[in-house]
Amino acid sequence: MALNVGPLLKVLELESAKGYADTAVIGGLDKFLRRWAAQAAASITTPRLMTQFRRLRLDDPRYASLNQQQRQKWIADIFAFLESTKEEKSAEKPAPRKGVTPRRRTVAAPKATGQSLDLPITSLQGVSTAMAAKFKKLGVNTIRDLLYFFPHRHLDYSRTNYISELGEGEEQTITANVWQAQVTRLGGRRGTEAIVGDETGNVRAVWFNNPYIARSLPTNARVVLSGRVRLFGGRHVFESPEWELLEDKELVHTGRLVPLYSLTQGLKPRQVRKLMKQVVDRFTGQVAEFLPLNLRKRCNLVELPRAIVQAHYPEDETAKNDARVRLAFDELFLLQLGVLGRKHEWQESQPGTPVSVEKRLLDAFIKSLPFELTAAQQKVLKELLSDLEKPRAMSRLLQGEVGSGKTVVATAALLAAAASGYQGAFMAPTEILAEQHFSSVSEILSRNAGEVLEEENLRRFSGLLSKPLTLALLIGDLSQASKQAIQRRVGGGDIDIIIGTHALIQKEVGFNKLGLVVVDEQHRFGVAQRSALRQKGFNPHVLVMTATPIPRTLALTLYGDLDLSVIDELPPGRQSVKTRWLKQAQRASAYAFLKKQVAEGRQAFIICPLVEESEAIQARAAVAEYERLSREVFPDLKLGLIHGRLSAVEKDKVMHRFRSGELDVLVSTPVVEVGIDVPNATVMLVESADRFGLSQLHQFRGRVGRGSQQSYCMLLAENPSEIGRQRLDLIEKIQDGFQLAEEDLKLRGPGEFFGTRQSGLPDLRMARLSDIKLLELARAEAIRLFEQDPGLKQAEHKLLSEELARVWQAGTELT
Ligand code: ADP
Ligand code: MG
Repeated sequence: MALNVGPLLKVLELESAKGYADTAVIGGLDKFLRRWAAQAAASITTPRLMTQFRRLRLDDPRYASLNQQQRQKWIADIFAFLESTKEEKSAEKPAPRKGVTPRRRTVAAPKATGQSLDLPITSLQGVSTAMAAKFKKLGVNTIRDLLYFFPHRHLDYSRTNYISELGEGEEQTITANVWQAQVTRLGGRRGTEAIVGDETGNVRAVWFNNPYIARSLPTNARVVLSGRVRLFGGRHVFESPEWELLEDKELVHTGRLVPLYSLTQGLKPRQVRKLMKQVVDRFTGQVAEFLPLNLRKRCNLVELPRAIVQAHYPEDETAKNDARVRLAFDELFLLQLGVLGRKHEWQESQPGTPVSVEKRLLDAFIKSLPFELTAAQQKVLKELLSDLEKPRAMSRLLQGEVGSGKTVVATAALLAAAASGYQGAFMAPTEILAEQHFSSVSEILSRNAGEVLEEENLRRFSGLLSKPLTLALLIGDLSQASKQAIQRRVGGGDIDIIIGTHALIQKEVGFNKLGLVVVDEQHRFGVAQRSALRQKGFNPHVLVMTATPIPRTLALTLYGDLDLSVIDELPPGRQSVKTRWLKQAQRASAYAFLKKQVAEGRQAFIICPLVEESEAIQARAAVAEYERLSREVFPDLKLGLIHGRLSAVEKDKVMHRFRSGELDVLVSTPVVEVGIDVPNATVMLVESADRFGLSQLHQFRGRVGRGSQQSYCMLLAENPSEIGRQRLDLIEKIQDGFQLAEEDLKLRGPGEFFGTRQSGLPDLRMARLSDIKLLELARAEAIRLFEQDPGLKQAEHKLLSEELARVWQAGTELT
């Protein structure tokens, strides 16, 4: 389609004839240009022209603010640009080169290009830069973004009534004549009052604070009103109904399923609805159907352009639902394809390291433990060991409640790897945890570790091992010299199991023969980390462990690249933790209870409020709270303080004193959230509990109840919001982490669950994770397609592969 330059040329010529005074068109040139540009944009077919088009700011002109000289130059530039579009067109025309099929465009060209979908929304008529800035806050930058900016729900104004049929309370629509509309005083403020009528009667409508509507309702105009009707002095009145003049256009605000968009300040619903209607009508035709036809048919999915239209302005409920299903399918399907692609990439492109597991050694190990493995632990251990023996790298997510005993299982795997001559790395999210893992792994392997040492030499299994195992702890706090010494020894292959924080092991260690990586409490061990290890020449087995309970459906979706193991059982004898949320007024009794527990020989945690993300600020707040508590509340008890600003040595000292029972109360910033294991602690008191998510509260609670004593979790919340209150009620009632997670999911919605944005995964907007059937369908189809054409190289998958790349764009630089 040609660029329609006729009117533009005329106006520009007139403008230069009139001396660049911005008088060529009523309303000014900017307004005219914007309108022209919005239409023209759709017919620009080459990237070169598009670049120029944007450079000239035709989509967002500033003519009015230029001086005369600048105006003259700018118009000259536009003439040149228009000239070049002609050349471009004529250059396109000559006979096709040999062997190339001419790309004839028989019907409307924009359908084939789709290019204007990537234009900024300022290229649309009526979208100013100010408005674009507001849309930007909603994540909408381009026309495509707008098309995918779906309403969060619809108002059902589709039922039309006669005035005589109106009933009180329900949402209804009428089509009527305006008899009279005027500005009036309503409740002391200016508003609009109108009398409208149809063949069955008249009815009054009022709009509070909206005097301007009167002007838009001329007498005798046909109007459609949608909204609720109330009874006032015995008569029906429409109170602030949606309204719209009945013209030759499709209804947008009334008389149908009307979309409600989540807006930011300054965007008005009517304005956005109107804009969306225009955009949907004009641009949906350019959206390419990227799903292969056979798949679409098999899954009974509507075509993409139709789905987009119907998601915004549905004909009826059925159409709306079909649209949602299609769009939700796309999200889940693309997500699955993406994760499968990743898995394929790291499993198939480079062979892994098969680890042979010696049964005698493993049996000896299991026998050495002071407890029996639970059935769940045994099952998971079997899954791990069978993965390790395979020649392709393991990618497994191990989920298990706090205290379910993941560490033992991971240790068995590390031992297996070390016994067959490979190195293992155990990464923890914090130094405290790294130290704790170091001491528990040492203990499990040797059963005689006392102090936390920098390094341990384990001979326990020496009868079965060709040489004693060497473990080392690598934390940031070591002296430079000892750090380097450890690194050197890891590089030389002298150390079999290295334990440290993610960062340290990731960045600074060159391994000799890395066979297994265990990652604790990090949700995604992403592509970036994998490839970092690859660059060091390894494709190790990877086990990611988490105590954050992730509902299975969600896990399958978000972590489809990982195989899933679950320890769904706690060791016997564990008690449930009594949980109460308390208001400010109950603080004193909470402290009294804590004192009583300490008097009985128990210990307690107090978690300081979540102040801000900054560690320094948190630390300061924790220090202040610690001092207040020591002085005013618990002068007779021994308190310790732990926060992120302490050095690892200091932290360790405090932890050690707490673990040994020398301290009664450990005051802490939320850093103790994960992993800390002190069986004698029975009280967990959390300040500002409403500011934490359910999963996090559950983690805190998991710090107690690890011994044989009854334990308690007290959640102080000063003034919780409605959602905060619901969360606190839930955690009071529910002990099971997985069930809590499901509930949390319902309260928060999937998008926020892990912040998919943060994790580098595509957004889910239409998909509900409770929709298991669709999830399974999308997964099955993704697997099927992936098996058939893993690289999406076939011609019929070209559009799909482009869409995949677009959706996953954000995911490339992840965690
Ligand atoms: P988590 O899954 O939270 O990492 P840990 O591995 O730290 O749990 O285990 C918590 C505690 O339970 C540890 O003290 C550990 O020794 C103990 N434990 C692990 N497995 C068992 C079991 N099968 N029976 C009894 N205690 C166990
Ligand atoms: Mg743990």
